[in-house]
Amino acid sequence: MKALIADAINEKGIENLKEVADVVVDTSITPEELLETIGEYDGIIVRSRTKLPAEVIAKADNLKIIGRAGVGVDNIDVNAATEKGIMVVNAPESTSITVAEHTMGLILSAVRKIAVADKSTKEDKWEKKRFMGMELKDKTLGVIGMGRIGSQVVNRCKAFQMDAIAYDPYLPAEVAKQMGVELLDSKEELLKRADIITIHVPLTPETKHSISTKEFEMMKDTAFIFNCARGGIIDEDALYDALKEGKIGGAGLDVYENEGKETNNKLYELDNIVCTPHIAASTKEAQRDAAIIVADELIELFKGNMPRNIINMPRINNSGFEDANDYLEVCDKLGSFISQSTKGAIKELEITYSGEIADVASQELFTRTVLQGLLNPISEAGVNAVNARNIAKGRGIDITEAKNNKDKGYGSLVKLTAKTDVGDFSVVGTYLHEPTIIEINGYRVDVKPEGDMFIAKYKDIPGSIGAIGTKLGEYNVNVGIMQVGRDIQGGKAIMVLTLDNEAPKEAIDEIKALSNVEDATTLKFN
Ligand code: NAD
Repeated sequence: MKALIADAINEKGIENLKEVADVVVDTSITPEELLETIGEYDGIIVRSRTKLPAEVIAKADNLKIIGRAGVGVDNIDVNAATEKGIMVVNAPESTSITVAEHTMGLILSAVRKIAVADKSTKEDKWEKKRFMGMELKDKTLGVIGMGRIGSQVVNRCKAFQMDAIAYDPYLPAEVAKQMGVELLDSKEELLKRADIITIHVPLTPETKHSISTKEFEMMKDTAFIFNCARGGIIDEDALYDALKEGKIGGAGLDVYENEGKETNNKLYELDNIVCTPHIAASTKEAQRDAAIIVADELIELFKGNMPRNIINMPRINNSGFEDANDYLEVCDKLGSFISQSTKGAIKELEITYSGEIADVASQELFTRTVLQGLLNPISEAGVNAVNARNIAKGRGIDITEAKNNKDKGYGSLVKLTAKTDVGDFSVVGTYLHEPTIIEINGYRVDVKPEGDMFIAKYKDIPGSIGAIGTKLGEYNVNVGIMQVGRDIQGGKAIMVLTLDNEAPKEAIDEIKALSNVEDATTLKFN
């Protein structure tokens, strides 16, 4: 096996790889040279300097694996790699400790005013009275997103004798208990109770601007908020107002809506915010670990084993089921639909296969694809058919599978029932020229999950549908297709809309506040 290290990575990773492969280190290789030589290699490791666009991948005739020594894979055309049957792996866990430590740095710097005091002291001002701080002991830490990084922040804050509360609707209560945090049902309660709020969620349609004016108003006027996750989760205009008007005590950011030089961010004018330039993951140790983790992935593959952090999974249909690829798409869409529409942490997921799909010897790949669809909208970890079962298990989701040979007139059907803390949610799908949902919570529908969508549960009384449509109209959101289903006249009903454009969060909040509406949410599909 021959591997190319195209960007500078830690020596330990290179040494390990040399034990199983002929390693070429060329960290100044140009795009032209790469295009000429890529065909020689079985594996390549890059960081962010080297780009692997479709033209390079097209020439990579021997390449089996691309390793990204880090997390983001923006520099790699993953779709082109998938089509060519090349695995892409990364090292998502390499930065968790480093980012958690940086979060602690921002917290301490903000509550003890270290950054502004440093500036003032070096200006020889000696302003002792100006920098009255706040102790962390006995304060409440509120973590939004209790994944790899959020949980490490909790561990560190415990050493400061803080109490920890968390909001993560996808985390089962038992897992939260093991992590030693009080898991809350609502983000609002966290915002009201926490002294230090720290965000560790992915940027998704649900989390975008999920901290805005309304949320700042709920916080204590002494509260501090930190974002080392992704820019755009906090609405920066609202943050500016909250800091300027003293609605909160202070903030710390490592990530921004617009990143880079000369963004003229007005937040930089304020003294009660600490800012760093997206460096939370930048330590030698994280880089070393990323190199070691990703080199180990290449080693595993070269030895004939399966790497752990595979981002893509070239699909191979050896099931003998002709429609397998169509139903893999159905499974992915159903998983994503249920994940985006279900409120509450999923404790159990029941998957029932009916018709021809139930006759296939193993439904394993379909089940894993359901889990991939389910976990992808709430994670940036690169969930795929290989790691989906393990990630689901880590989140405490019990998976049960059943076969039912009655197909109700469809070739094949897949039914998912999610059991959550707040009730059950079920969805049935099939393939009718494209993935199609034919039942939601027992109501018959005909929904093609694609683009921007909207789902609401409401009371089936005159005016409910109109009120929802009017609210969307007020926010300039046009409805493409509407589907409604109900149990009995005047009973509970469900509405699924295909939207021409994304509905803003404010529109959804106003719809949720309508007296006839039980719940409403937006969904997004590729
Ligand atoms: P993770 O996938 O391990 O954890 C994310 C957690 O957020 C999960 O537990 C998930 O259930 C939860 N979540 C998802 N949607 C949610 C919602 N709407 N409300 C509440 N919780 C929700 O991810 P991680 O590795 O801990 O990374 C967390 C964030 O940090 C990501 O956005 C990642 O991109 C970012 N990150 C930033 C840097 C940096 O340099 N600043 C470096 C690494 C990671």
